[in-house]
Amino acid sequence: MERIYIGMGSNLADPAEQLRSAVEALGQLPQTTLVGVSAFYQSDSLLPGQPRYTNAVAALDSSLAPLELLDALQAIENDQGRERLERWGPRTLDLDILLFGDRLIDEPRLKVPHYQIQERAFVLYPLAELAPQDLRLADGRNLSDLLAACPYVGLERLSTD
Ligand code: ATP
Ligand code: CA
Ligand code: CA
Repeated sequence: MERIYIGMGSNLADPAEQLRSAVEALGQLPQTTLVGVSAFYQSDSLLPGQPRYTNAVAALDSSLAPLELLDALQAIENDQGRERLERWGPRTLDLDILLFGDRLIDEPRLKVPHYQIQERAFVLYPLAELAPQDLRLADGRNLSDLLAACPYVGLERLSTD
């Protein structure tokens, strides 16, 4: 079993409901236990002209192989109506593998840690709700350092009812 963190995002078709459905689907993956889910956070899209995003992070323990997990995540995205029209276009559901145990993965289909973790407050702050404070990434960086370098700006933490 390895501890895995999944970044979830949606900005179409009732984003909070999309994330709740995704959490349920993650909980049903084979060889996998859902360990926790962060609060949901809203923020403006990085690209102008798109609806606001809702984001959250889920923690899993899984014995799936990384590419098996990626396949499963993409199947969940597709089940929830993800259409791939343009890169970074609006989407019903995006599921990114942020961290996978202490693995460094550099394959054509899968780079872990996710390449933009350090840029994205909507990833780092929900991740910090679930991860140990002294979490060290497989590439040696500390989560606390990434948080300190990424201001908590533009995020709205939604109540967790
Ligand atoms: P970004 O990667 O900047 O967050 P995005 O999530 O919108 O953008 P997608 O269109 O969802 O990008 O994914 C493009 C491809 O990225 C996927 O088909 C997948 O093979 C690849 N990929 C590479 N690393 C990862 C990862 N850590 N998690 C998920 N997909 C990844
Ligand atoms: Ca993404
Ligand atoms: Ca993605």
